[in-house]
Amino acid sequence: MDAGDTYWPSGRVGFQAVLFPPSMFGVALLLGSIYSGITFIVPRSVATFLPFVTVTVASFAASFTMGLLRSFNVRNATFCFVAGIYAGICLLYISWVTFLALEHGLPRYLDLLTDPGLVWEGVVSVSEETRFEIIGLSLPAWLRWGIWTLEALTFVGVCTGGGWFALDGHVYCEDCDRWAEKTEDFLKLTAIDPDEAASAFKRGEFRGFERANEGEREILRLDIWKCAVCENTIVASLRTAELDESDEGEQPYGVGDLIVCDLIISPRDFARLSSLRRESQGA
Ligand SMILES: [Zn+2]
Repeated sequence: MDAGDTYWPSGRVGFQAVLFPPSMFGVALLLGSIYSGITFIVPRSVATFLPFVTVTVASFAASFTMGLLRSFNVRNATFCFVAGIYAGICLLYISWVTFLALEHGLPRYLDLLTDPGLVWEGVVSVSEETRFEIIGLSLPAWLRWGIWTLEALTFVGVCTGGGWFALDGHVYCEDCDRWAEKTEDFLKLTAIDPDEAASAFKRGEFRGFERANEGEREILRLDIWKCAVCENTIVASLRTAELDESDEGEQPYGVGDLIVCDLIISPRDFARLSSLRRESQGA
């Protein structure tokens, strides 16, 4: 890591990554069973709210995907992407296994869980049933397949998104084998021309920057990631922000454009920014 470069995850997968597949399978077992329990129990007449349940369950699975990947210290984007696809497929598979086991009797659960061919036969046979109704309407087979395809795409798509974005907004210190801690809104600076600000910041020239005054409408917001152990891994992002008038009371700043993204900065530059911050707190 050199100051002035952009931070990228190292690409290391790490030995703990072997724990991801069984852990995610466990999560899918829980979420998929809950999902199918709901889809099985609710009367078909209220099934219109099911897309909401599908998206919610998929979002939970995506959050778990991100959380597990980070807790196992994975820093490889391709691994994270494939892990997201795997999570979506697990969730889809378990939800069908549970649904079919509820239809055909729970003793068949283990047979279904270990035999994808049997699950596929079950799906086809459900598609041929006539009682499949939503809001009192019996759905034709092609529409059922359409709904199931959407459901499958939601599960796999949302979980893949979780894997894809798992490393976004996170910095890993390879020296200390730990994630750096993020301080959002480390410093508020008076807004200057974004291009000028970006190039000055990248050169480590902070003379042109001044801390923003309380209540200033347009500012630049600095976020910092720093390893709490070695204090050498330091990454900064700078973005434009604007005071949000619509919210009374706290008046938070709405976030605008990212003008410096994940820039590695030296401990010396960090010290300068920190002293600017101390000034701002002392004022
Ligand atoms: Zn460190």
